Amino acid sequence: MPKMTAGYAKNTIRRALRAVVDREPSPSEITKLWEYFGSACAYCSRRLKREKREGHLDHLLSGGSYNISNRVLSCGLCNGDEKRDKNWIDFLREKTSDATTFNQRRSKIEAWCTLVAQVAPKDENERIEVEIERAVSAFDTALANLRQLR
Ligand SMILES: [Zn+2]
Repeated sequence: MPKMTAGYAKNTIRRALRAVVDREPSPSEITKLWEYFGSACAYCSRRLKREKREGHLDHLLSGGSYNISNRVLSCGLCNGDEKRDKNWIDFLREKTSDATTFNQRRSKIEAWCTLVAQVAPKDENERIEVEIERAVSAFDTALANLRQLR
């Protein structure tokens, strides 16, 4: 763990609070994901067998939401060994040999994100942000009060 500074603590508070409302995909959402990607890795098109637990639910944005709209079907090699924290578009470019294939796979992933985006994410996100900033503001107030005691 890095040195515990006020900035680090605030980011940790933000992440911990966001994790409360972020939920893992439901079984029906996971089924939809398998169907949408045709039981193939979204990055390299390798065929995957669900019954053999070959599919991974890769996070498009590393450190981003657990929600289904930030997840794609991926093989273990792409998800675990190769992509890591890379930007998914850069990673996809590395995995494809020509521009046509790259554009097809990129469009398919982007269409997936749009398809499963929540109906009212903006209002909900604003409420989440308000609550998180309220907690961070309380932290700032306590920090300022404590600094006066030094
Ligand atoms: Zn793959």
